[in-house]
Amino acid sequence: MSARFERVALIGLGLIAGSMAHAMRAGGLAGRITGHARSAETRATAAEIGLVDEVFETAAEAVAGADLVVLAVPVGAMADVAAEIAPHLAPGAIVTDVGSVKQAVIDAVGPHLPEGVHFIPGHPLAGTEHSGPRAGFASLFRNRWWLLTPLEGTDADALSRLEALIRAMGANVEVMEAPHHDLVLAVTSHAPHLIAYTMVGVADHLRRVTESEVIRYSAAGFRDFTRIAASDPTMWRDVFLHNREATLDILGRFAEELFVLQRAIRMGDGQHLHDYFTRTRNIRRGIIEAGQDTAAPDFGRGAGPG
Ligand code: NAP
Repeated sequence: MSARFERVALIGLGLIAGSMAHAMRAGGLAGRITGHARSAETRATAAEIGLVDEVFETAAEAVAGADLVVLAVPVGAMADVAAEIAPHLAPGAIVTDVGSVKQAVIDAVGPHLPEGVHFIPGHPLAGTEHSGPRAGFASLFRNRWWLLTPLEGTDADALSRLEALIRAMGANVEVMEAPHHDLVLAVTSHAPHLIAYTMVGVADHLRRVTESEVIRYSAAGFRDFTRIAASDPTMWRDVFLHNREATLDILGRFAEELFVLQRAIRMGDGQHLHDYFTRTRNIRRGIIEAGQDTAAPDFGRGAGPG
């Protein structure tokens, strides 16, 4: 199955779309790449740095004649974009997205797309805290997972073509159902982001610790939280608003565990704390053994899933 598409349209020209453009070019995986972003500023930057072959003022113009269309906008913008491009999609085109939430995107995009267009939702588990047209790089997806959540009855050839492209960009593909994806990501990414946002907020509010002390003595734990909490506010607002149930479920469990640990500290139950931390250390080892992070003291930061 060929990994190459002759005409690729990227809607949204930020970190993920930009990384795809770089990776596709590096691997000779696209004939011509067109793009569109909402603001004139992003479009001008993308054109200036030659991120894609041609930048269009509208998404409708960008997708005309494309055999692959990638929706790489925040989750909350997917419905409007799908409605705009729908009448302009070429018959047989594959439409995919890279949104961090899957069921909400399926509900937002699916109803707009015409018969004969193959919609295959996806999510690369790769990202950084940087955003915008200059943030992308070709190796972002290397050895990362790219989850696909195809709908029932999806054309097998279309799925194989998209899988071939993703693998050629260096990622590993796994297929799963959208609700399961949303629960897995609530545990592995969405709830942890909220906890990081909260912890940085706590430090910000703590008057006894001056701002300069927080910055000067920022040890690995807090520093890591600040990196996560620097992620794009629009993207993360949309993630929480569109993966509400799963995130609230995980946060509820988190709060229960936190109370148990809080109680162990209050009661001086060292055995409980030691047992708990031993179990969590094994999870960390599992992640390193699976090749999804490094043992470096800064956690090998620079990449993390959205
Ligand atoms: P980003 O760097 O902030 O880029 C988002 C792009 O979407 C920008 O070019 C923005 O244009 C454009 N955009 C926003 N609303 C639009 C609209 N209504 N019409 C057209 N373009 C619009 O974001 P990103 O990190 O690439 O994220 C894109 C998607 O990938 C999101 O759905 C996110 O959930 C998902 N994702 C992100 C990560 C991550 O770690 N960052 C990882 C995996 C998946 P302007 O610049 O003009 O506003």
